[in-house]
Amino acid sequence: MHSFSRSNSITSLSSACSDMDDTMQIFVKTITGDTLPITVPSSTSISTLRQLIALRTNLPAQDLRLVHAGKHLITSAKSDPSLAECSITRDSTLHLAMPLRGGAPKKIRCSFKECKDAAQRIVGDCGFCSGHFCGRHRLLEDHKCSGLEDCKKECHQQNADKLNSERTVAIKGV
Ligand SMILES: [Zn+2]
Ligand SMILES: [Zn+2]
Repeated sequence: MHSFSRSNSITSLSSACSDMDDTMQIFVKTITGDTLPITVPSSTSISTLRQLIALRTNLPAQDLRLVHAGKHLITSAKSDPSLAECSITRDSTLHLAMPLRGGAPKKIRCSFKECKDAAQRIVGDCGFCSGHFCGRHRLLEDHKCSGLEDCKKECHQQNADKLNSERTVAIKGV
């Protein structure tokens, strides 16, 4: 009796292992052109996979960028999809890409007419005409923004709202 229940539990254990949710082999092509076979469950997250690859390649995990079917597999604190969610299936091949050296994004030129100055990052972006401008042209008036009319209305409306709410607060405060 004893031995029966024992063998029974072994059977159930091994069958649990074999259906261990579709473990699959995928391939990772490294920068040097080597192909690394990796066996993982399809529920593995991209960040876990990156850690595994880092161990296998001795490259720092944060430097590894994974590309599948031409798309970068991007993870963040909020989003860390599984292989299945990225449509990575058995025998899929991923590619490794290293971050661009130098890191700095390409300089953007001011969008204003003939201006050759470099556009300012972030503060030089105009949300109304989607242009990028230098320090001299970043103000709506200075680049004769095509979205200016809308902006004036919006600013006016915002000011009016602000005044109204301030007034309400002042009244309440009395
Ligand atoms: Zn400019
Ligand atoms: Zn503009």
